[in-house]
Amino acid sequence: MSAPSIRILPTMLPLTLTVVVLLALLPAPGVNAVDHCPSGVLALTFDDGPGEHTPAVLDTLAAEGVPATFFVLGRNVDLRPWLVGRAANEGHEIANHSYTHRDLEELSEDEIREEVLRTDRAIRDAGAEPLPLLRPPYGHWDGPGGKVATAAASVGYTIVTWTYSPTDYLADADTIRARVLDNLHPDAIILLHDGSSNAPEMIAALPAIIDGAREQGYCFGLLDDGGGVVPPAPPEVEEPERPDEGPHPAAPVVTGTPLWLLRDEPSGGVADHRFRYGRSGDVVLRCDWNGDGRDTPAIVRDGTWHLRDRLAGGAADHTFVYGRVDRGDLPICGDWNGDGRDTPGIVRDGTWHLRDRLAGGAADHTFVYGRVDRGDLPLAGDWNGDGRDTPGIVRPDG
Ligand SMILES: [Zn+2]
Repeated sequence: MSAPSIRILPTMLPLTLTVVVLLALLPAPGVNAVDHCPSGVLALTFDDGPGEHTPAVLDTLAAEGVPATFFVLGRNVDLRPWLVGRAANEGHEIANHSYTHRDLEELSEDEIREEVLRTDRAIRDAGAEPLPLLRPPYGHWDGPGGKVATAAASVGYTIVTWTYSPTDYLADADTIRARVLDNLHPDAIILLHDGSSNAPEMIAALPAIIDGAREQGYCFGLLDDGGGVVPPAPPEVEEPERPDEGPHPAAPVVTGTPLWLLRDEPSGGVADHRFRYGRSGDVVLRCDWNGDGRDTPAIVRDGTWHLRDRLAGGAADHTFVYGRVDRGDLPICGDWNGDGRDTPGIVRDGTWHLRDRLAGGAADHTFVYGRVDRGDLPLAGDWNGDGRDTPGIVRPDG
C-alpha cells in the first residue's frame, strides 16, 4: 500500500502546451509501441569509433530513421568529439568501449576504472550523456562478479557484449548483409564496427540490413542501462501550435545521471541505499511492484515503464508500455484493487486511467477527477486504510 505515489523532484519539466493539445489527438492509453514490430526489437551497435566512416553511418541511420548505440573508444572521442555530439543529437546512445581498446582482463581493477572513466569524461566533454554500459574490447571479460565487471560496477557501469557478430571488419557487403539477416531474433544485439577500416563494406550493407529486418517484422531499438533491448519511441506525431491557456501539470523528470539515496529511518544521515537508476529525461517514481511491502524504483523513458523489484540499478524486472508518458501523460502508481501490489496509472487531460496489472493494455479503471489538465497535482493514497489506493488532487491556490 502506498502513500502518495507521485513525488515531484526539485527538477520539474513543465509540459509544453503543444503537447497538452496533442494528447487529445492520441489513441487511448495502453497503445503499445511495439505493435508495429510483430517479430520483436533489435539493437544495432557500432564499435571502435568515432572514426572517418562514422558520418556515413549516421547519414544512413538518419535516412532510415533508425536509432543505434555507439560503443566509442575514448581516445577516438577526444580526436573527433563533434561526431559524438552529432550522434547524440540525432537520437543515438553513446556507450563505453574503453579508452585504448586494451584487453581489460589483462589490466588491474584500477586500470580498468581509468579506461572507463577517461572515456566517460571524453563523452561528457563532447556534450553527450553516456549510457552506463561497458563493452569490453574483444568481448573479453571474466564474467559476472569477476574483475572486469566489479571494476566497471564500482564506477556505475554494467557489462554488455552482443548476441551476434557478422565479423563485419573482415567481410564484404553481401556477406555482412546475408549473415545479419540470417541471424535475427527478438532482442538481438548486433555488433558492427564504424571504427574499422573495412567500415565501407558494412555501410554499403546497412540499408539492405535495415530494410530486410523490417521486412521480417523487426524494428530497431536502443539499449537500457542494464543492456536490455528497449523498443523505439512511438512514431512522431505532428504537434499543432496553440496559445497558452494557463497552468499545466508537471512530471517528475530527472536530469543528469540520477543517484538514488534512500534512508530506512525517518531522519537525516547517511543513505542506507545508494544506487544509480535511470538517466536524464526519465520520469521517476516508486511503488511496491511485487507486493513484498517495500517500495522500489521505476523510471518511465519514452513511454516505456521500467520497474525494479530491488533497491538497485541494473536491468528492469518489469518492462511494458502504458500510456504516452513521452507525450505528457502523468504517471502514477498505487494499489488500485487492494491485492497488495502497486500497479501503474496515468492521468491524461484530467482523466485517470488505472491498470490492475504490470502491463500495457486497456485501463481497468477510468474516470475524471479534478482538473489535472489545469494544474491540479494528482496524488494517490490509501486515504481510509482499506488497503486500496484511490485518487486525490492538490489544487494550487485552492
Ligand atoms: Zn572494439
